[in-house]
Amino acid sequence: MYITQVGAEYAPVAKVGGLGDVIHGLSRALAKRGHEIEVILPKYDCLDPDLIEDLHLAYEGLQVPFYDQQLPCTIESGYADGIRCFFIAPHSDHGFYHRGHIYGEVDDPGRFAFFSRAVLEFLLKTGKQPDIIHCHDWHTALLPVLRWEIYEALGLNHPRVCHTLHNSAHQGLAGEYLLRAVGLDPARLMTSDRLLDRDRPHTANLLQGAIVYANSVTTVSPRHAWEILHTDQGMGLQETLHTHRHKLRGVINGIDENTWNPQTDPHIVPTYGPEYLPEKARNKQHLRRRLGLEEAAKPIVAIVSRLDRQKGVELMRHAVHYALKSGCQMVLLGSASEPWIDELFEDIRHQTDGSADCRLVLRYDEELSHQIHAGADIMVIPSIYEPCGLTQMTAMKYGVVPVVRRVGGLADSVFDANYSDKAFEEVNGFLFDDLTPKGLESALGRAIRLWFRYPAYFRQLRLNGMYTDNSWFGPAQQYLDIFEDIKA
Ligand code: ADP
Repeated sequence: MYITQVGAEYAPVAKVGGLGDVIHGLSRALAKRGHEIEVILPKYDCLDPDLIEDLHLAYEGLQVPFYDQQLPCTIESGYADGIRCFFIAPHSDHGFYHRGHIYGEVDDPGRFAFFSRAVLEFLLKTGKQPDIIHCHDWHTALLPVLRWEIYEALGLNHPRVCHTLHNSAHQGLAGEYLLRAVGLDPARLMTSDRLLDRDRPHTANLLQGAIVYANSVTTVSPRHAWEILHTDQGMGLQETLHTHRHKLRGVINGIDENTWNPQTDPHIVPTYGPEYLPEKARNKQHLRRRLGLEEAAKPIVAIVSRLDRQKGVELMRHAVHYALKSGCQMVLLGSASEPWIDELFEDIRHQTDGSADCRLVLRYDEELSHQIHAGADIMVIPSIYEPCGLTQMTAMKYGVVPVVRRVGGLADSVFDANYSDKAFEEVNGFLFDDLTPKGLESALGRAIRLWFRYPAYFRQLRLNGMYTDNSWFGPAQQYLDIFEDIKA
């Protein structure tokens, strides 16, 4: 099959969070099965060119309509981690992708609406007719709308579109001017069964448009597919999703086992695997040395996360205090999304700076994240909502036992050591339901007690996690089945 992935991120060349990892991991898994895969991205000024091989000009003189102008674009192409990528570079005063970062600009809806139109114009002008265009999140949500409303008639009529919702909280809201900017007719589209937001008058909801127009809609775990249909996690999209529920599926993400593999990880010394688990203890020593923690017979409880409301920052704070009170060491690596959250954690950092048992590192640090995975015993993930989550899976791969809230992909990938009905070899962590300190303690307390009192059983849980298949192998096949179903 010929599949074109279109999104705002592709790890590692342009990564902010899990979205970049998913487009990267899925593309590699599909390519490995012999499918023809290409990725189309904006040519951000912050792309790392060293990660792109053979970057060259692929197409010149593409004219992309925007308002009443034609914006000239060039398309560059190269290989990133073995996958062919195309980068759309507009040449206009807007400087759409010259902002030093990927997101966070007031004109984000315009920047990404333009990108969606430019991708289709590029496919049309080069005569490309992928079997599937796979779009992701609100940034590319206008693509299925534009393909049907404009490009079908122009001849781009072979591709079918699959749209994946990674985070429905961000929907891409804009005035109807944005539809006009990319050549769509607001009079036709601004109805609540198309793009008109159901709660906000005169507002176009781009993600709602993708749900209406895509041939298939997926989200990143089966449990989250249910949650967005039936609970407020649909973030106001429930009604639209209900109307289109026949095309909604949940496919859990995998992790890229080239990046997350303790047997080959270049960031850790020594490497280890389930057959030589004692080497993990040496990684624990190294982590302690690196962070200035004392050598002691204590478990290391870790958090590696964006410090965002969604991730349960209040419970993370409680986890730090509870772990220390319970005789553990605590390591937290995270970067805050808002100043008040940064202050919250800076406060704890000040209080615990000299401590022999606690270290908070408040920044993004890929290498340290790998070393924490290698050295830690327990990983805490107390999310309010979590469409899929990758950290519970990477933790398991490194023999770290996850303690997670029972939501979304966390509930689909972590099976409780005490209460799951799974076979003994399949249980791999601890779950809790209530979004309260007591709720968290009910699971974290069990994990800590197990570490102290029943080390052999704790070791078995680590091994169960390490042997859990969280690769892209199964999910890639599920996407292929969906693509086959909708293919022309
Ligand atoms: P989300 O995409 O919502 O942030 P995921 O769990 O899907 O959450 O993916 C987040 C990824 O980013 C994980 O691989 C996690 O380890 C990594 N990560 C998050 N915060 C940091 C940080 N401060 N430093 C290094 N890696 C981080």
